[in-house]
Amino acid sequence: MTNSSEAPRTLAYWQRAAATLRIDTRPVIGGQRVEPLTTETFQSVHPHDGRVVATYPACGMAEIDLAVAAARKAFEAGCWSGLAPAERTRVMHRLGDLLRQHGDELALMDSLEMGMPIAQALGDIDESIDGLRALAELASQLTDLVLPSAPHALALNLRVPHGVVGAITPWNFPLYVALSKVAPALAMGNSLVLKPSELASLSCLRLAELALEAGLPPGVFNVVPGRGLPAGQALARHMDVDCLTFTGSTATGLQLLQDAGRSNLKVTLLECGGKSPQLVFDDLDDMDTLADTLVQGFAWNSGQVCVAGTRILVAQHLFDRLAEALAERVGTCLTGDPLDPTTTHGPLASRGQFERVTHLLAQAHKQGARVLARGQVASAAQGCHLGATLLADVASDHIVMQDEVFGPVAGLMPFADVDQALALANATRYGLFATVWTRDLPLAHRFARRLRAGSVVVNAVASPRTAHVRGSGAEPVGLSGYGIEGGAAGLRAYTRQRSVQFNLG
Ligand code: NAD
Repeated sequence: MTNSSEAPRTLAYWQRAAATLRIDTRPVIGGQRVEPLTTETFQSVHPHDGRVVATYPACGMAEIDLAVAAARKAFEAGCWSGLAPAERTRVMHRLGDLLRQHGDELALMDSLEMGMPIAQALGDIDESIDGLRALAELASQLTDLVLPSAPHALALNLRVPHGVVGAITPWNFPLYVALSKVAPALAMGNSLVLKPSELASLSCLRLAELALEAGLPPGVFNVVPGRGLPAGQALARHMDVDCLTFTGSTATGLQLLQDAGRSNLKVTLLECGGKSPQLVFDDLDDMDTLADTLVQGFAWNSGQVCVAGTRILVAQHLFDRLAEALAERVGTCLTGDPLDPTTTHGPLASRGQFERVTHLLAQAHKQGARVLARGQVASAAQGCHLGATLLADVASDHIVMQDEVFGPVAGLMPFADVDQALALANATRYGLFATVWTRDLPLAHRFARRLRAGSVVVNAVASPRTAHVRGSGAEPVGLSGYGIEGGAAGLRAYTRQRSVQFNLG
């Protein structure tokens, strides 16, 4: 399906497109769709109304083995790894063009499978394409090092690709997160096997087809649908995977480290969960605008955002005024049909996610939290809708203020002074992201250095897009993982440094 240039993008347009969407769930291995070896299947479900979107083969070790072998063969053949960086850049730009042409189809796939509002899913595709192009360009400009040496010697530090990269990705931004791994890995000359989330794999499978159409040689990029166990585990434990790049929960990240340790000591890059603070100091006065952005910071994508600012920490002096503005704003949040272009908040991605979030809310209630405001659910139908929820009377050690909820839920707490603000912000085992709201930029700068966070954003909404400003790389802290993502350093993460020395004498 290519984008239609005439049809207005109404709910009816998206419903028609959904009814005629081509669905192919077979793995892409060695440059083509292949019949899976397994007969076991699982399904993805539209969380708005419970309809089955796709039935997937539950691939496992056999398919992963085939995909890794194809990736290895392509890597050793040098059909991609052996190209000049500028040639790889050209192919990646062609892929960007194809993603643009098929943007509606890809956005629809993500929206149907995990409930992301279609308008947001389209924006995500645009961001993904921009990121792909930016990394492709940057990769062709990276330089190696010539080291100081004696006149009869030449000493170099070269960056060489790892070889076969295994990528395991989550469902919350299916294509965007996959591309944040696929793009740097490919740009640096690696071959890849991607195991997308079992909740939303359609756009990643389509990505592999489009990459072939763009000119990526067969076998360089393979996509295998399957569950974490056994498909993800098979990739993590594989003896011929050189680097494992993962985005997902901390629990899975910890498991993958053990798998890497029990196999071949593959390099691991882990982007895991977060429990990010949004810190508001008392020198601000426009409460309505502030409330808008703070709510967006925790309720965007129904809170299923790794960098969601779920701990709103507010200077005592502003607390009552801001609480009132936040409550009003949260009350106007409305969840609706993801295929309606006017919808800004969709359902949670799955029944399991809905139950997890409601369970955490019940625990919060037991620990004394009070619902200060709740958003509205326009059309719950059989779906997994949950209104944005703002909690008051929470303490830093409450479960809801410590565990990642991954739903549109935030706790509101006051702080008395700057020291307490820092202590509360850092009272987490995670360290992914933080936002600071103040006009006092020297104070914000001091905080940026002392906050436990891979990225700090001052006076802007928490968003993975802000985090991945072109050229900016960030590395998480603590249970949020490690390994730089983004920018030149993020490209280098997909290489090893090699020392080469010539005796010319
Ligand atoms: P998840 O950990 O349940 O699953 C992520 C991926 O890992 C899926 O593909 C899944 O099939 C696979 N998996 C699960 N168990 C596995 C195992 N034992 N071995 C190998 N693979 C396994 O996470 P999720 O629910 O899909 O995504 C939500 C999580 O992702 C949240 O914790 C969120 O914070 C995190 N996330 C982090 C970032 C970031 O940049 N830090 C970005 C997006 C999402």
